[in-house]
Amino acid sequence: MKQNFTKIILKNNVLIYLSDLKDVVNQILNYHKYLPLPNLILGNAILAFSPLKFIYKSNKLMIRYKTNGAMKSLILEINENKIRGLVSNPNIETEYDQKNFNSIPLILGIGDDGIVEISREIKGNFFTSEVKIAKADIVTDLVYFLNKSDQIYSAAINDFELNEKDSTMANKAKNIIFQLLPNHSEEDKIWIENFIKDNNFKNYSINEIIEKIDGEIISTEFLEGICWCNKDKIINAINLLKNSEIEDLFSKDKQIEVVCEFCMTKRLFEKKDFLK
Ligand SMILES: [Zn+2]
Repeated sequence: MKQNFTKIILKNNVLIYLSDLKDVVNQILNYHKYLPLPNLILGNAILAFSPLKFIYKSNKLMIRYKTNGAMKSLILEINENKIRGLVSNPNIETEYDQKNFNSIPLILGIGDDGIVEISREIKGNFFTSEVKIAKADIVTDLVYFLNKSDQIYSAAINDFELNEKDSTMANKAKNIIFQLLPNHSEEDKIWIENFIKDNNFKNYSINEIIEKIDGEIISTEFLEGICWCNKDKIINAINLLKNSEIEDLFSKDKQIEVVCEFCMTKRLFEKKDFLK
């Protein structure tokens, strides 16, 4: 399984999270094979929000968009070093679907009103915060969340592009997030602003960006785009039902098929798998 990374870099009093998540995004888009717009939305969301795992030092995170747009909602879940995600209504066609789909404004699917809710587990406790969506372009929504909910000055850029011949594949998926540390000075803030202004993130490779930052790499963290569903978890969930309810499930068919909504894995079950 392919692993991608986030490098955490310290430059004076600025912490930088630099990620290359092309394989992670491709793995997840390949599970779903959505239309171009939901691919763009989900890809950008994976890219922007997965570094939160390292920002919050949390092993379990859930990011949820609930909006008035055609997609209705988007879910990302992070568990240890694995991430999975989905768009709840991916059947959104646009006039750009045949060509130029990289130029589709994300707001066409996300909508212009709604919330971003983030739950994170820290030492066994779950903390949830939510903000209104800021611009419905994902990356501004992330920055707005960080600035508003954590009150830490942050800036972020996504460089995400789908393959023009196959919209279920990303050509590029990299992200950079800058955060000021509590003891920062005005120069640190100016450094971030100038760095963004002077260097077009989209024109450089990860290694070139690292060279330009010229800071200290504190750590390299890995992430995989794979689902953690399994047969036993489904059996345990269905076993929470009463025996009579389980009988009802099988009243018409000998077998039932359960499809994981994150990785689309199909599993067949028989009554004898459940009855206690
Ligand atoms: Zn799954």
